[in-house]
Amino acid sequence: MTPFTYFQPAGLEEAFSLVAEHGPGTRLMAGGQSLLLALKERLARPPTVVSLSRIPELSAISYAEDGSLEVGAATTYAQLQKAAFTGWHRHISAIAGNLADRSVRSMGTIGGGACQADPRYDVPTLLVASAARMVIGSIDGMRSIDAAAFFSPAGGTTLGPRDILCRIVFPPAGVFASFGFDKFRFRVFDAAVVNAALAVTTDEAGRITIARLVFGGIAACPSVAGAAGARLCGVQLNEFASLPVADIAAQASEEVLPIATATTRHRQFQSELIKTITTGLLTQAGAPGG
Ligand SMILES: Cc1cc2nc3c(=O)[nH]c(=O)nc-3n(C[C@H](O)[C@H](O)[C@H](O)COP(=O)(O)OP(=O)(O)OC[C@H]3O[C@@H](n4cnc5c(N)ncnc54)[C@H](O)[C@@H]3O)c2cc1C
Repeated sequence: MTPFTYFQPAGLEEAFSLVAEHGPGTRLMAGGQSLLLALKERLARPPTVVSLSRIPELSAISYAEDGSLEVGAATTYAQLQKAAFTGWHRHISAIAGNLADRSVRSMGTIGGGACQADPRYDVPTLLVASAARMVIGSIDGMRSIDAAAFFSPAGGTTLGPRDILCRIVFPPAGVFASFGFDKFRFRVFDAAVVNAALAVTTDEAGRITIARLVFGGIAACPSVAGAAGARLCGVQLNEFASLPVADIAAQASEEVLPIATATTRHRQFQSELIKTITTGLLTQAGAPGG
């Protein structure tokens, strides 16, 4: 590990100033689960590291007036796993409780998972599928963007060098009539070969208005199967049994990973996984209580 200067600010304004003052080489550290590895292996050699672990507002969980769930960027997976969430927010707990191992979950943070932006990880898929808003701060002020715009198509995030992800705002607990997440990994502590989420909203008559089907592990950022999702619109959730589920799953697979480009065994395996996982998510969404 190359020596660096370490700061532990106690407030956001101080963190914004430190990042601005010490320049673009500065790295932020949340739980350190990815960054410490990069430092140890000398993949990153920052002159300055600013810790986010002692900033209380970054690890707070609260609700906005409209019922949106506001999660501080430095909230750990363990905190999310234990939170008493209701409605679709329970899936956030379940996802946080089913990644990596206990030590990663106790230190790793949802904001760190977002900023690490590894497409095989669960957090980017969760954020894009749920249309979360990312609240970003810097010495220049605060702004918020859609999760889909947070992840760069070329990989990584669209954060600037002075930016800190401050919190993530999830839609209210009752927004999705159905939400599902699934993934395939070889061992429990492995990143997923493919992960996927399906978020469904309905109108007053129970007809689907949005079906956001998102996959991780396929491209450099989460992949949205827009056309396959659109085929669900206008259908009632309880009519799912009459849908050509296998055909929609095949369309989703072709959309995000065209079979013509699946020239390796790994890509062919991913293509099959997408179909299997999508079929499961659609079947589950159509089931009572899905
Ligand atoms: C063995 C192992 C298995 C894993 N398996 C999974 C898995 O199956 N699914 C999954 O989703 N994740 C998995 N993870 C990843 C885990 O989610 C991330 O490593 C971890 O969450 C990163 O969060 P952190 O708080 O430790 O971030 P850090 O390591 O502290 O930071 C990661 C990166 O994000 C930047 N950063 C952190 N916070 C902010 C912020 N608020 N604003 C701006 N930049 C910031 C840092 O500068 C750094 O570049 C695994 C990790 C390990 C080590």
